Amino acid sequence: MYLPSFNKNQVYGPKTHWRCSHFGKGCRAILHTLNDMTIVKYYNVHNHLAPETPLHQFKKITFTNTQQGGTIIVLSGNKFYKYRTSGPKIHWKCSRGYKHGCRAVIHTLQDMTVIKCHNVHNHLGPKYFGNR
Ligand SMILES: [Zn+2]
Ligand SMILES: [Zn+2]
Repeated sequence: MYLPSFNKNQVYGPKTHWRCSHFGKGCRAILHTLNDMTIVKYYNVHNHLAPETPLHQFKKITFTNTQQGGTIIVLSGNKFYKYRTSGPKIHWKCSRGYKHGCRAVIHTLQDMTVIKCHNVHNHLGPKYFGNR
């Protein structure tokens, strides 16, 4: 597994922590993945010019168009809806954010570059997934 701007740092059980290759120069960008490269946590803000981490390196993150003409992000079966735009950034929230108080969020730019991802849910996998 190779990511252009991240170095494998430590493995904690099922999780792998990566940090930016410029960590020594003060860059705080980090990435936590599961062993199958599912993103758990991602903070893609560098204090230097960084090559973009190609999303196809990560499994289980997809942008899907809805029937209503919108876009949702599906990550490990959980759906994230657009809930706020702040300047160039779009904030996406877990579809169970309102009902279950789930705090999982994804921040992207308008071009869908993922800047931040907190893929930690307070509920088990989506029960309705695959109901259709
Ligand atoms: Zn960096
Ligand atoms: Zn959730």
